[in-house]
Amino acid sequence: MYLKNIELQGFKSFANKIQLNFNPGITGIVGPNGSGKSNVADAVRWVLGEQSAKQLRGAKMEDVIFAGTENRKKLGFCQVSLTIDNTEKKLPIDYTEVTVARRVYRSGESEYSINGGNCRLKDVHELFFDTGIGKEGYSIIGQGQIDKILSSKPEDRRDLFDEAAGIVKYKKRKELAEKK
Ligand code: ATP
Ligand code: MG
Repeated sequence: MYLKNIELQGFKSFANKIQLNFNPGITGIVGPNGSGKSNVADAVRWVLGEQSAKQLRGAKMEDVIFAGTENRKKLGFCQVSLTIDNTEKKLPIDYTEVTVARRVYRSGESEYSINGGNCRLKDVHELFFDTGIGKEGYSIIGQGQIDKILSSKPEDRRDLFDEAAGIVKYKKRKELAEKK
């Protein structure tokens, strides 16, 4: 399983639609300060369901939409899609390639889709349970996060181990069953 492609449109500094293709192995993104490297990482978190504007280095959710420049008008919505190779069927879905997309309008409306079919945020979360990929997963380690893991409460740190051990989906099902 690996990240094959990210497509950004109107997300933060990426006003034009752009595609970034990745191959298996290590890829580095390099560029001058302010060129948008961290914005690419923000886009990945965002499409995976990040709900906190602060985590995305903004003040409000609208800040993920291209805000305009001196010679370019601001945009009304943004969209990010992320395509993951699933030939090993690590994601519980019967496709060898999985594309997750999110679109948001200035009005605040958010839409998610998996392989082109509209879905709920919950479906996106469930797709990535126990893979380390979800927004709470450990596949994205932000600046300062190592510190946070080391100094967090034992029960919070345990979530990380649950995810690695692959038992999150069972815990969630248990919680749901207990609520009913
Ligand atoms: P550094 O090397 O300093 O970490 P970086 O390559 O990670 O830089 P980013 O933080 O990804 O840079 O990009 C910052 C740029 O994105 C800034 O110029 C900022 O103005 C621009 N930006 C952020 N949000 C928006 C938005 N909503 N609309 C337009 N531009 C935006
Ligand atoms: Mg940066």
